[in-house]
Amino acid sequence: MDLRIGHGYDVHALEEGLPLWLGGVKIEHEKGCVAHSDGDVVIHALCDALLGALALGDIGKLFPDNDMAYKGIDSKILLRRVCDVVAERGYAISNVDCTIAMQRPKLRPHIDTMRETMASVMGVDVDRVSVKATTTERMGFEGREEGVSTHAVALLIKHE
Ligand code: MG
Repeated sequence: MDLRIGHGYDVHALEEGLPLWLGGVKIEHEKGCVAHSDGDVVIHALCDALLGALALGDIGKLFPDNDMAYKGIDSKILLRRVCDVVAERGYAISNVDCTIAMQRPKLRPHIDTMRETMASVMGVDVDRVSVKATTTERMGFEGREEGVSTHAVALLIKHE
């Protein structure tokens, strides 16, 4: 049995009037992420964790942000493609865990929808997908509501 662990981290700036996508879910808020894609910082961190486990670089390498093909793209499509790469290499997703740092809005009401959405995109049971959220007690860029960040870890398994 071969086990692989990966870590991902992503940050996006927040700006008034943009849609806010987190974990594949659109959340009502007056600010959204500035990005070439839909700016889903949770899915981006998760993709980097999955790619990191296989030492395949990051999503910027797979989906360059100067490529117009990815302009405004739904990040769920990127996650699906990353999962295809994982499967092609013979690995299955054991579990993933994401922590979102954001001051506002309260994310708890959206957590289970994010878990269900990302689990369905990855084709795994929802109990293998953890999403947590924290404020940063008003400190730093997240605390000042200038941006949002996410850490993610992923464990991959291959039966030999
Ligand atoms: Mg990103």
